[in-house]
Amino acid sequence: MAATEVFQLSFPEPDVAVLTLDDPDKGANVLSTPVLEQLSGHLDALDARDGLAGLVIRSGKPGNFIAGADLREFVKWIDSGSDQIASTCRAGQQLFMRLASANYVTVAAIDGICVGGGAELAMWCDRRVLSNSSKTQYGFPEVKLGLYPGWGGTSRTPRMIGLANAVELVTSGESIDAANAYAMGMANDLVDSQQRETAAIAMIRSEQASKQYLQDRQAWSGPIEISETELGFLGATASSYISQQTKGHYPAPLLALELMLGGAMGDVQAACEMEAENFSQVFGTPVNRSLLNIFFLQDRNKKDTGIDAKNVEPGQIGSVSVIGAGTMGQGIAAANVRRRIAATITDTRPDALAAGVSKILEEVSYNKQIKGADPQRAFEFAPLVNGTTTDSEVAASDLVIEAVVENAEIKKKVFAQLEPLLRDEAILASNTSTIPITRLAADLKRPEQFIGIHFFNPVRKMPLVEIIRGEKTSDQTVATAVAYAKAIGKTPIVVNDGPGFLVNRLLLPYMNEALELVCEGASLKAVDRAAKSFGMPMGPITLFDVVGLDVAMHAGATMHEAFPERVVASRLLLAMNEANRLGQKNGLGFFNYLRNKKRGEPDPAVDAIIEKCRDATQDFTGEQLEMRLVLPMLVEATRILEEGLVRDVRDVDLGLIYGIGFPPFKGGLLHWADTLGAAAIVEQLEPLAGIGPRFEPTEMLQKMAQNGKKFYD
Ligand code: NAD
Repeated sequence: MAATEVFQLSFPEPDVAVLTLDDPDKGANVLSTPVLEQLSGHLDALDARDGLAGLVIRSGKPGNFIAGADLREFVKWIDSGSDQIASTCRAGQQLFMRLASANYVTVAAIDGICVGGGAELAMWCDRRVLSNSSKTQYGFPEVKLGLYPGWGGTSRTPRMIGLANAVELVTSGESIDAANAYAMGMANDLVDSQQRETAAIAMIRSEQASKQYLQDRQAWSGPIEISETELGFLGATASSYISQQTKGHYPAPLLALELMLGGAMGDVQAACEMEAENFSQVFGTPVNRSLLNIFFLQDRNKKDTGIDAKNVEPGQIGSVSVIGAGTMGQGIAAANVRRRIAATITDTRPDALAAGVSKILEEVSYNKQIKGADPQRAFEFAPLVNGTTTDSEVAASDLVIEAVVENAEIKKKVFAQLEPLLRDEAILASNTSTIPITRLAADLKRPEQFIGIHFFNPVRKMPLVEIIRGEKTSDQTVATAVAYAKAIGKTPIVVNDGPGFLVNRLLLPYMNEALELVCEGASLKAVDRAAKSFGMPMGPITLFDVVGLDVAMHAGATMHEAFPERVVASRLLLAMNEANRLGQKNGLGFFNYLRNKKRGEPDPAVDAIIEKCRDATQDFTGEQLEMRLVLPMLVEATRILEEGLVRDVRDVDLGLIYGIGFPPFKGGLLHWADTLGAAAIVEQLEPLAGIGPRFEPTEMLQKMAQNGKKFYD
């Protein structure tokens, strides 16, 4: 079957060709083998034409120039040998280089997303015209996949926009907007998106008159103009910054830096060759595989409706009410207002309501650029926030989210009072972190329209939302909640009802184990260090101080009640609570925050408490501590899969990455477990089984170990 034609060739003027990329089979243009082959064919034909003044490359998709390489195709080569990988890079470089050596001027006319391979293609053109739309984004996100741009990205970029700019762009992976691209010299003109083709043709005419493009071609194919001293200084500052950011877990940015510095003194051909030769050092590595896994987890999540049925249309949520104006209520209301969904918020305490409304306005009107409240935004958002103490104002909402204190009786009273007031289609939701949704729904008239929508604290920063399906929750309600969470920019994961739902059920065994290790002889610092060396953003001991030791004890008690055989009620946590050491909130937790609110210091009073709880004085290696912390979480995850709490293993991984910051370079808990293999895990668990049932391999793990199955089969 012939590949679909993705380019359209036209001649708006006799000596100007326009190639429009518009893949009819895809929502966004991506660079796949057929697309590259077709580009090559068009260049052959255009090169053979006499009297061509210029070529404009544009996209037929508004807001999307090219979103990069076709990653699904790309991963098929992941097991290739290094020669094959290098030659794939070379083929792309050679194709794109033709744009910088054609016997006519080449201009990319860009509107919208222009990233990865698309940004490289555009860079090899002589000139770039960018639309000044807010959707225009130019960048090299490859490092976020554990890679670097390998089609000339590290070779051509520093020659065109300077080494310092290129280092920042390529090693950060962050995209820039049109204005920044222009300031950096990446864009040569900024125009209205409708004008980009006309502007590109005008640019061809002026380049043909001045022949400046020929001088630039020559300059950009030679060495970069920079002294050895400047090169050394840039290298030292950039590598120390990158090392600090990546903590040694992500090798790609440093390698990209080395390539840009190493290739600076030679010509662009030699730099391209280094880029191709080294690509196998990043492509196919465990970090690359992990980050690709996360890309696919996110991609799947974007498409997932949250239910298996195909013919259920989610309802529209145009207005929301939030009950309870405390920490979570404020964050939830602000998340809605920011996405221009009107939010009514109530509280039984007028003072809490007033403080809540003012915090919401403060949050939504914050402007990063001026590092403070932006009056324009405040003016725009204020009409969307309605603080009230009367229930009747809640009645018109499409969705009501309860975020009052964590007490089942109080919550049930709120629901009993509100349900009769609501419209027939309205959804009632709870933000509870521990109480079963089915239990909260027990006395409701419409339990099918009741659901858990569990936001994480702080709502502003945490992308994850657990959507908890009670026994009677309908598909329609789940689909609506999922679509709503996405509409306010969150990543929803659907979880069946159960103690701790997904994230807290998995976090608890890990946190609890940290305390058990301390009681067995490990130091607080050693436990935190082991977790961070595994890649966690923060050690579990510090996390206790951040969450609050009282909150942690309450959550622990709920889980102990649900799973008494596996969840140890920590005597150390109890002793700390008895000593009124509640964490950062009162300045005294496992560490002392009285002198420095953010960075706790060791406290002899805690040593005395630990001493009383200690029942062993074992020495642990860092690796032993890491495995002790992570294995109980992994075993519990297999129980969650056995119980069918989630619909797919991917939900566990995405939930932990977004919910607790599980290290992305490990690709998720189960992805990481697959790299070890079930047999190796069972082997690691065997000597630990004596510690308690939380280390006993589940039936699922044992079977997987026997038949060599993986979680991601
Ligand atoms: P909070 O104590 O900060 O706020 C609760 C608010 O609810 C208070 O302002 C209180 O006056 C108000 N309230 C009490 N009874 C009410 C009633 N009958 N009607 C209206 N308002 C009432 O609590 P929070 O931390 O915001 O937690 C709220 C809910 O969110 C709890 O269920 C909690 O478990 C859950 N949650 C909390 C976190 C967290 O980290 N704080 C994270 C996820 C979920």
